[in-house]
Amino acid sequence: MTIIEVKQLTKVFGHDAGRAIPLLEQGMSKEKIAQELKLTVGVNKAEFSIEEGEIFVIMGLSGSGKSTLVRLLNRLIEPTGGQVLFKGKDVVKMNPEELRQFRRKNIGMVFQKFALFPHRTVLENAEYGLEVQGVDKKKRTERAMEALHLVGLKGWENHRPDQLSGGMQQRVGLARGLANDPDILLMDEAFSALDPLIRKDMQQELLELQSRVKKTIVFITHDLDEALRIGDRIALMKDGVIVQIGTPEEILIQPANKYVERFVEDVDLSKVLTAAHVMRQPETVRPERGPRVALQLMRDSGIFSLYVVDKANKLLGVITAEDAAQALKDNKSILEVTRREIPRVYPETLLNDFFELISETHLPVAVVDEADKLKGIVIKGAVLSALAGNAVPEGEGS
Ligand code: ADP
Ligand code: MG
Repeated sequence: MTIIEVKQLTKVFGHDAGRAIPLLEQGMSKEKIAQELKLTVGVNKAEFSIEEGEIFVIMGLSGSGKSTLVRLLNRLIEPTGGQVLFKGKDVVKMNPEELRQFRRKNIGMVFQKFALFPHRTVLENAEYGLEVQGVDKKKRTERAMEALHLVGLKGWENHRPDQLSGGMQQRVGLARGLANDPDILLMDEAFSALDPLIRKDMQQELLELQSRVKKTIVFITHDLDEALRIGDRIALMKDGVIVQIGTPEEILIQPANKYVERFVEDVDLSKVLTAAHVMRQPETVRPERGPRVALQLMRDSGIFSLYVVDKANKLLGVITAEDAAQALKDNKSILEVTRREIPRVYPETLLNDFFELISETHLPVAVVDEADKLKGIVIKGAVLSALAGNAVPEGEGS
């Protein structure tokens, strides 16, 4: 379900900014508008929608309009034109009371430099949003503690912000945003001030948190690696314009233009793409169908092996054409000739982590979930092709 829909959203800074709107509509550039009208275009006709429960990343270089865009979503900045629909209701048209409720209940924000109250403890800082909402002491302590644990600040509840490192102070800001339990969490460069290692931990924690609570997160970053790691989809901005919106894979493999191409050219794809990105539909057979059917299936699709799965799609192993032919001759069942020792990876395994596996084996690598259910297969060619920056080809193969 769509939770936020943005239409023609525009922000121009400066005196009588509305003057720029017709010119932007004619396609005049940010640079030209700055020269001729002395106005600064922050966001230029942004259009996108965000689905409930997704992590939507807004990425771009400094000055590209990320902060302006995210502040337009909760109207910390008044738009010059366009709409922001929250579950269909236009935030731009909300009266002050509706807007206050919206900010309190539906949308929370974590800033890069979160101003903590120096005289309050970490716990009291994390409780702040709930306190404003009038949540009772016991409940808000409980939720704030939970949020603090989540960001790795267990044991620091009674310290004051100045006793914490910069990175830890940032975590308090995050805990405050989480304790509030909003539908949508806006995070503007929330991790940018953290050390690389802590930052990676936080990204991981955020992903885990999100998979548990299914919160919608709008995450701003200027860091491509971070965007690729955590984004379900990424909007890439340049000069106030969204130049591409897509999954990390789409952005990497099908950059919309030269700008995006240059942006992503140094990425080590093997550390970003996963088995899920390059896997394809496997050809399967259930054991009770027998070797004759298995052989026929392989002939029909021009392949030399089949994955043997049970009724629940649990992977039992693989059977080759030779195995099937032999079984037929010896009057054996599929299960008797199934090879059970076959290479397996999880959908989220990075290509980088199964390079060796795939180069050592003749068979495709099976992609399974924790319950050993077959999700797909990865063939060597698809991996090499993806790493060369090509779209993953469709089609069968083994
Ligand atoms: P980012 O967050 O991607 O670094 P910003 O959204 O902060 O970019 O800025 C986008 C553009 O809008 C920049 O050109 C910036 O100078 C301009 N801008 C941002 N805030 C203001 C403001 N309050 N007044 C005038 N110009 C602004
Ligand atoms: Mg910014």
